[in-house]
Amino acid sequence: MKIQAINGFKDILPDSALLWQQIEQRARDIFQRFGMREIRVPIMEKTDLFVRSIGEATDVVEKEMYTFTEKSITMRPEATASIMRAFIENGMHVQQPVQRLFTIGPMFRHERPQKGRQRQFHQLDAEIIGAQEPQVDAELIAMGQMLLDELGINTSLEINSLGCPACRPPFRTKLVNYLELHQDALCDDCKRRTTTNPLRVLDCKKSTCKAIAKDAPSILDSLCENCSDHFSLVRQALQDLGISFTINRFMVRGLDYYTQTTFEFLTSDLGAQAAVGAGGRYDGLIEQLGGPALPGIGFAMGIERIVLLMEQKNNGTSLTQNTDCFIAALGQEANKPCSQLTHQLRLRGINAAMDYSGRSLKAQMKQANRVHARFVLIVGENELKQEEAVLRDMKTQKQQVFSLAGSVSEQGERLAPVLRA
Ligand code: ATP
Ligand code: MG
Repeated sequence: MKIQAINGFKDILPDSALLWQQIEQRARDIFQRFGMREIRVPIMEKTDLFVRSIGEATDVVEKEMYTFTEKSITMRPEATASIMRAFIENGMHVQQPVQRLFTIGPMFRHERPQKGRQRQFHQLDAEIIGAQEPQVDAELIAMGQMLLDELGINTSLEINSLGCPACRPPFRTKLVNYLELHQDALCDDCKRRTTTNPLRVLDCKKSTCKAIAKDAPSILDSLCENCSDHFSLVRQALQDLGISFTINRFMVRGLDYYTQTTFEFLTSDLGAQAAVGAGGRYDGLIEQLGGPALPGIGFAMGIERIVLLMEQKNNGTSLTQNTDCFIAALGQEANKPCSQLTHQLRLRGINAAMDYSGRSLKAQMKQANRVHARFVLIVGENELKQEEAVLRDMKTQKQQVFSLAGSVSEQGERLAPVLRA
């Protein structure tokens, strides 16, 4: 019996990993343009952290967490809570009143695996802590948009405001009254949610619940003056930066900690998995976790979904990892000097490869093609005696004689610039 990976946990194979690297590099580059600094937080946290931040009556906490009950620890289902925990624990606000942080890594949720939905998945996560100004919301959203644009991914941006502890309770009452009128048509989960967490009903994916949610009261009609002003300033600031968006009055997001601005980057190219990235403001969260009363806003993008969209766009052509120089050592005598020269090239920053098997030139040329070699240095036993080798340019098929005179270090010093040119 072969052992297989756990359902919903996937390998990222080398060809695909190149695309992952490209996405992560582009994300780091853009995050750094916006002054974000990297933070790396543990994969596991005390379960309580997620219960208190994401919220007890959310899908994530109720059914999606991987929790080791005897130890009360949980594999992180998202990064925001962990970053806030680290921020508080390390007193990061003392060093710098506004912290701009990002992290990239795996998250774990026990969901039904399907295209674009896994149990281990990866997020690009960005957070700005300590700033309340609506321009910051726009800046963060613009950063997400810039990333998707530079990756060549088409998404639409939807935004909403979820209000604050002042305007949410009256809205909640209005919503509960409406939902109670439609109890019979709601799914069992939503019947329960009507009392435990009514906003979640607006996020239910079942079509019958969606139909009811469509005519539900919107939080936008219940915003207090402060939240309403904040939201209109966010819209203005987005326009100022040239970011297009639509308002989705019913977007609630699946995590309880959000306040005011929420947003989603959506695609129609991944079937049921519509969101490529999402985020929002969480002004009460840090205090709720025992930290200072500081506001925050962040987003997370799903790397798997970005990869799928980029692969669809590239029509299945994958990236290749190139080798600058493949050294074909012909005959056992050639192995030692060739391995030394390979090492000398690597010391000089060249991607060099060789084969110790002593196989025929034909077999080694095949191997050179497999590793996408730009040049092949052919070193035969006879050539070796004459301190010469043949350097073949694989693009032009032109050959030149390369002198093996001098020490391996001198050879490397002469060959490296030729390979780089
Ligand atoms: P969804 O509605 O698709 O379940 P979500 O609201 O639960 O998404 P968030 O918690 O906001 O997602 O996470 C941000 C992003 O992380 C999502 O937009 C998505 O791209 C990605 N993501 C979330 N859950 C998964 C998963 N199980 N597999 C792959 N990607 C995921
Ligand atoms: Mg989800």
